[in-house]
Amino acid sequence: MDSGTLTPDQIAVDDAIKRICLEFGDNYWLARDTDGKFPEDFVSAITSGGWLGITMPERYGGAGLGVTEAAIMLRRIAQSGGAFSAASAVHINIWGPQPIIKFGTPQQQEQMIPPIIRGEDRICFGVTEPNAGLDTGAIETRAKWDGKNYIVNGQKHWTSTAKGATKILLLARTKTQGSETKSTTGLSLFYTNLDPKHVEINEISKMGRKAVDSNAVFINDLKVPPEDLIGKDGDGFKCILHGLNPERILIGAEAIGIGKAALEKATTYARDRHVFGHAIGKNQSIQHPLAEVWAELQAAELMVFKAASLYDSELPCGAEANAGKLLASEAAHRACERAVLTLGGMGYAKEYHVERYLREIYIARIAPVSREMILNFIAEKVLQLPRSY
Ligand SMILES: Cc1cc2nc3c(=O)[nH]c(=O)nc-3n(C[C@H](O)[C@H](O)[C@H](O)COP(=O)(O)OP(=O)(O)OC[C@H]3O[C@@H](n4cnc5c(N)ncnc54)[C@H](O)[C@@H]3O)c2cc1C
Repeated sequence: MDSGTLTPDQIAVDDAIKRICLEFGDNYWLARDTDGKFPEDFVSAITSGGWLGITMPERYGGAGLGVTEAAIMLRRIAQSGGAFSAASAVHINIWGPQPIIKFGTPQQQEQMIPPIIRGEDRICFGVTEPNAGLDTGAIETRAKWDGKNYIVNGQKHWTSTAKGATKILLLARTKTQGSETKSTTGLSLFYTNLDPKHVEINEISKMGRKAVDSNAVFINDLKVPPEDLIGKDGDGFKCILHGLNPERILIGAEAIGIGKAALEKATTYARDRHVFGHAIGKNQSIQHPLAEVWAELQAAELMVFKAASLYDSELPCGAEANAGKLLASEAAHRACERAVLTLGGMGYAKEYHVERYLREIYIARIAPVSREMILNFIAEKVLQLPRSY
């Protein structure tokens, strides 16, 4: 969905985000990649424009727009040169509250949503655990009811933005799994205070996106009042499922943004750099892979926005959201890799930025769900092939 197919309102969203992002170009993001400081000034600029509430209901101060507009916004943020360092700094606050909107009581929504939009509450999302991985039903973090509160003990892994978060959307087991029930039955979702007295947060040193922390989170006797339970006790996986498709759509859109930024850098360099007396972009071995990547990004983008449009029309979109995320992350990865190769030695130099994009785009191939699990999903749910695991 390029600007030729956007509605005037969507173009306004894209333009407004572009204006904010112009203040934070590639050099700003390179500096954050070097010093690892969380991009507070960027997040403030996005927050003060009211953009954290883009998909939140208007009655709570949001803009009431769809996942399509959120995808346009996050694509632009990633494309600005910020890549995942920029997108992940705001992503969870845009997408995370969806289960509260769908399954929370009006009272919970009234209390929880406005501080998120105003940027007063910062969210992190604790699902992944070291011993469970992609098998969410195997998580071991327990929330035990003591008659007044839930008492949570366990460990989460890779929890992004936990260091600066005040709140956590937390999936924990509240009911023992019976032999006859599915492994995902008996999980519950909480939106609760990340109380530092009961939570230890250790940052994971990682390949890219240094400015946005991902963490090992150790939870010890965290007291969670019943008012912080979202949806019914035992229905946590159902609540999470509701948010999975929009998350895949948004990650896909972010990947497209990074791929486009890489392609732009590569084509500019290929036009300007002269070797053997002509522009390197005159060589078909340079230009064909870039043309191929352009076509792949366009196709992936169509799938991502098809999924967004289905979601906004309240139609099933699981196959398209998964396919869009898969195609976008793979196409964007190829774009980043081609950009590094097109720039030759300079592709490896930090000041040309494409090596940073390449390191960051790997995130989209791994999280929140891997390419293998997407292919499993499509094989089983779309092609009706037997489940392999
Ligand atoms: C930068 C970053 C940020 C993250 N942020 C968060 C966050 O904020 N909150 C959060 O909860 N999580 C977060 N995650 C975790 C992320 O969602 C997981 O890393 C991801 O879901 C993969 O899980 P895993 O790493 O445990 O892989 P594993 O489950 O250990 O899988 C390892 C490999 O085996 C493959 N595999 C496993 N089972 C099968 C199968 N049945 N068939 C085929 N292949 C299979 C996988 O595809 C993968 O390639 C983040 C991860 C990263 C890297």
